Amino acid sequence: MLGGIEAGGTKFVCGAGSGPEDIHTVQFPTTSPQETIAQAVAFFQQHSVQAIGIGSFGPVDLDERSPGFGSITSTPKPGWENFSIAGAVGSALGVPVALDTDTNAALLAEARWGAAAGLADALYITVGTGIGGGAMANGKLIHGLMHLEIGHLLLPHDLKLDPFPGRCPYHHDCLEGLAAGPAIAARWGMPAINLEPSHPAWPLEAHYLALGLINLTLALSPRRIVLGGGVMQQMHLFDLIRAEFARLMNGYIRRREVTEQLENYIVPPALQGRAGVLGSLVLAEQALASAQPA
Ligand code: ADP
Ligand code: ZN
Repeated sequence: MLGGIEAGGTKFVCGAGSGPEDIHTVQFPTTSPQETIAQAVAFFQQHSVQAIGIGSFGPVDLDERSPGFGSITSTPKPGWENFSIAGAVGSALGVPVALDTDTNAALLAEARWGAAAGLADALYITVGTGIGGGAMANGKLIHGLMHLEIGHLLLPHDLKLDPFPGRCPYHHDCLEGLAAGPAIAARWGMPAINLEPSHPAWPLEAHYLALGLINLTLALSPRRIVLGGGVMQQMHLFDLIRAEFARLMNGYIRRREVTEQLENYIVPPALQGRAGVLGSLVLAEQALASAQPA
């Protein structure tokens, strides 16, 4: 029996089980760290789990060589800044704990049971309030100094075509600053969900997302890219992104996956709202495996 937590800024989803067939979940609002963790711990005590995985909002410190390892780092959420979420859960339950980002958890689930099943090299990107994502290479999540921050890729931005300055507090017109849901709303003066499919917002959105995907494809060489999040509920965006991706790539990479088979390369998620908590079970499995001597 494994436990998974999808730790979001507004809600926590806790699950116990081994996968999509048998997972049992509960959810509750994210309040103070003490109260929220106590609710999660009470749920897992009822299910006697052997290990816990946490896919968390962030940024989180995942570098074992860093003094803040296992903590949420900079967040405006009261009480959560520098809170050691992995430490709190681990010491309350006395079981191995693995922590990663919410998007890395979603990627693990999509690569095990969903839209990238069977692929060892894949990318998962969410386009929502922010833009974030994770990458898997050779079956392992990419980590390093920090977790990937692909929402902040810097892109060419033609101010004559798109005078919107962008809204990232650090970079203004990075990918997230130009293309996350709040940027669309600010540029066009209405929420993205209210924009008709024929609105010029969408080809522009597809342009920025395709620029990001070109850079990621060239740098990380994924075999498939899964695009999720609120903005990607606009299913017509997928074909716009694929066409713009092909136009920008301009025939340079000749593999069929990124030429005639783009409908299998840039794809929607398969697990929808359950990817985060299911991926946290995969993290729990990894925590258990590394705690047990082979
Ligand atoms: P979060 O990123 O906060 O976890 P979401 O992935 O749902 O949550 O993203 C929320 C953002 O997505 C908001 O900016 C919202 O306007 C936008 N959004 C949500 N649903 C849709 C939709 N159906 N079409 C377009 N934009 C949407
Ligand atoms: Zn930025």
